[in-house]
Order: sequence, then C-alpha cells, then structure tokens
Amino acid sequence: MATPSALPAQNLARSGAIVVGSGLAGLSAASQLISHNVPVQLLERSAKPGGNSIKASSGINGAPTKYQPVSDDAFYTDTVKSAGKAMAAMTAHRETLISTLTNSSSAAVSWLVDTNGIDLSKVAQLGGHSFPRTHRGAGQTPPGASIVTTLLKALQGSPLFQLQTSCTVTKVLQTGPRVTGVEYACENGEKKELHGPVIFAAGGFAGDAEGMLAQYRPDLAGYPSTNDPRPGTQPLLTAIGAQLLDMDLVQVHPTGFVDPANPSSPLKFLAAEVLRGEGGLLLLDGKRFIDELETRENITNAITAHPPTSKTPRQWTVQLVLDEGVYSAAKSHIDFYVWKGLMKKTKISDLGAEALDSIRQFANAASGKNADPLHRTAFANWTLTDVAPESVVYIGTVTPVVHFTMGGVLINEKAEVLKEGGERIEGLWAAGEVTGGVHGGNRLGGSSLLECVVFGRIAGSQCSGYLPA
Ligand SMILES: Cc1cc2nc3c(=O)[nH]c(=O)nc-3n(C[C@H](O)[C@H](O)[C@H](O)COP(=O)(O)OP(=O)(O)OC[C@H]3O[C@@H](n4cnc5c(N)ncnc54)[C@H](O)[C@@H]3O)c2cc1C
Repeated sequence: MATPSALPAQNLARSGAIVVGSGLAGLSAASQLISHNVPVQLLERSAKPGGNSIKASSGINGAPTKYQPVSDDAFYTDTVKSAGKAMAAMTAHRETLISTLTNSSSAAVSWLVDTNGIDLSKVAQLGGHSFPRTHRGAGQTPPGASIVTTLLKALQGSPLFQLQTSCTVTKVLQTGPRVTGVEYACENGEKKELHGPVIFAAGGFAGDAEGMLAQYRPDLAGYPSTNDPRPGTQPLLTAIGAQLLDMDLVQVHPTGFVDPANPSSPLKFLAAEVLRGEGGLLLLDGKRFIDELETRENITNAITAHPPTSKTPRQWTVQLVLDEGVYSAAKSHIDFYVWKGLMKKTKISDLGAEALDSIRQFANAASGKNADPLHRTAFANWTLTDVAPESVVYIGTVTPVVHFTMGGVLINEKAEVLKEGGERIEGLWAAGEVTGGVHGGNRLGGSSLLECVVFGRIAGSQCSGYLPA
C-alpha cells in the first residue's frame, strides 16, 4: 500500500483509508469503511488493540432504544447542562455537535446491538442524567470489553482489514493542503509511509502527566491516571493547522486504587462510584472529610486541599471503607478488587483508633441515631451498627486520578478536522477522545463510548464518500 505521496485523487480508492488508533472510535470508523467496501489499514501504537475503550465499565448512552423506549429529549438538555460554562463560547458549533451526538444515540446503540449482536440489555441512570440511558450487558463482561472485542473480531474476518500493532504514527503527510497519508514507525524504529485519507482516532491525553497535562493543566502535572502513561497525539494534528478546543477541561476522578503491590505506578484502576453509592465511606488520616456522595469535583477538591503523600506520582492516601452490607450489594465489583489485591477484607483495628471513632460516628448516622456531621443523608446498604475494633470491613487505598480529557481537535458534525477560522482540512477526519467540543466542561458518564460510535461511523462514511467508487 506504500505509494508515492503525490498520489492522484482518482487512485485513492485502490489504496483505501488509514485509521489511527484501535479504540472504539477507530474500530467504529473502520467498520463503517469496510461496510462500504473500502480497504482499511489500522495503525495502533500499543502491542494490544483496544485503547482505553476496552476498559470502559459503566456503559454507552442511547435513547430511545429497545431497552429504553421512552422518547428522551432530555438527553440533549442534560448534555448542554453538563457542558456548563463552556457553552458560552462557540455556542452554535457546540449545539450542533451535541445534537448530532444525542440524535444519533439511538442508531448507535441499535448498530451495536442489532447489527453487531452485542448485549446491551441493562440500562442504568448515571449522575447528571435525568433518565436511565446508559447501556451495558447483562453478563459479567464489562461493556468496553464486549464492544471492542466483538467489533475487532468482525473486522479481522474481513479481507479488506489490516491491523498493524506496535506501530506509532509520527507525522501526517500532505500534498499541498490535502492530507495524503501518514509516516509511522514500528518496533525496529524504521520510518515508513502509508498513503490515503486519514481518520484520526488516537484518544485523549489523560495519561500524558508530564507532557500535555503539564502544558494545559499545570495543576494536574504528575497526577496518576486511569489511562496508560503515553503522550497525547493532538500535536500531530496541530502541526498541520488543526484548531484545538477546551484543552484545559479535564475530568479528574476522586477514587483510583493505589495498588499496594505497586503504589507508585502512574496507571491506576478505577474504584467504581458504586462503592460509595452503596454505602462506602472515605477517611483521610483516619477522619471523614466530606459527604461521600458529593460530586466528583467536590470530593477531589476536598482531598487535594491536603498535602499529597507522594510527589511522583502526585497522590494522596485516602482509605475507602465498606462493611458487609455494602459488600453484599456490590459483591461482584468487590470480589474482583480483592482478587486483584486492590482491596482487602480486614478488621477496623487495622485502620487505627481515630478511624474507629469516625466509623462509629458514620454508623450512628446510617442507623438514624445521630445526624451526620458531614450532612450525608443516604447510606444505602451500610448495615454495621455495633462498631468495634474487630468488626469486619473491606478497605482499599484510593487517590484522585486524571480520567478523561474533554479538549482536543475541533471537528464539525461531519467529523472533519477544522483549522482556525473553520476551514476543513481535506482528507482528514477525527473521532473520539482526540476531539474537543462535544462535552464542554464535563462529560456525562456513558457519552464517551457514544461519541466514539457516532463520530467514528460518521468519519467512516464521510471518508468512504471522499474516495472515488
Ligand atoms: C477505566 C475507564 C473506564 C471508562 N468507562 C467509560 C464508560 O463506562 N463509558 C464511557 O462512555 N466512557 C468511559 N470511559 C472513557 C472512554 O473509555 C474513552 O474516553 C473512550 O473509550 C476513548 O476512545 P477512543 O477510541 O477515542 O480512544 P482510545 O480507546 O483510548 O483509543 C485510542 C488508541 O489510539 C492509539 N494511539 C494513540 N496515538 C497513536 C499514534 N500516534 N499512532 C498509533 N496509535 C496511536 C492508542 O494506543 C489507543 O489504543 C472510561 C475510561 C476509562 C479509562
């Protein structure tokens, strides 16, 4: 497929399209291209395909769907509300991106379920949503893993699909203003070129702690992340004039597990929100410090108001404490975390005398004996009342982690990458977390997988239309 860079447009069909990144955005784009009989070369820098998409655990938004049949205009308004103050700038452009996202959500879920046979039959309501609309499967496999593995398997069955892993794209090639391919390097470091139109689906920069995070959010430099520690790739696109948007808008999650076997790893496993929701409490230096059901942002701010316990990575030592009641309600999660060594079953005495008092106070509030001094009013499945040093608890150490980057390259509703001034860059599309503007200041849970499918498929269709038949 390597051809001279001055490839005439009429020859592009023979060489097909290039997709950069094998997460959900890249796989959705590739699937769409293949459905139009366009050959696809997918380049992935990791040894294993799937990106951060394969880790997604809560699900994908869609409404209405066969599992959430209520016609749901509120999805658009919920998204605008969550985007917050960012909507004040480029308002019309953002509104178009958001309506494209929400109006296409029904078709996106249907494509995964009906065309690709993926189970998404369970629907939950996550924070910031006015209705349940986040879909996952009924079985044990998390939604990211089931979606990614199913799409990848289908692609690998096509003679038109070629995946090269451990190959990093290092430059976008142009002939005049038109994008005509990429330069890339595989394990032996030798630079090669591929020629054709390009869909960029290279993900976000949450794992780029000392690079792009330090540049755009110096206050978050050195933070651990739920994303692999890798450089962000937007600079490859700004090098050819792409406009950036919302680069300082970054989602921090208050609870990533500090693995006792590797406490200084920059990569952390997410401690699911359900643990706090089902009745878990948080301790810092043996004391509670906030209503654990507060927003992610408020909990993070309450933790980071204290000095960090480690500078590399920049992290805090917060204890997440659950009792047997919470364990029963979130058993499958907790069994998994215990199996991974991220939580342990132990006695309260393990946490020290101050923790005993704090847990006793929490239990009194949960049982209605006293009001909670931190104003928590819902305790879900916490059942322990007679708190004693030998009472059984499940504990894990957690710290705030950088989780998602809202900013990225500016696209339009056709997933075309735009320059300053709004002019499109011919031959280049982008989808997924590498783009900015779809979520504004705060992404709703479940909307990232959705943007990958919606804009990935749009990019695939647009790119196939660009190639001569
Ligand atoms: C633990 C966790 C749980 C999450 N849960 C949810 C959830 O339940 N619902 C939801 O909607 N969102 C969730 N998210 C967010 C969501 O998973 C991601 O934002 C989304 O999957 C991003 O998909 P993507 O295809 O844009 O990028 P990715 O899936 O990150 O894929 C990008 C790929 O591009 C490759 N790449 C990058 N640069 C290059 C290069 N130069 N050359 C070649 N390859 C390159 C990367 O190696 C990577 O494989 C979660 C995220 C995490 C980390």
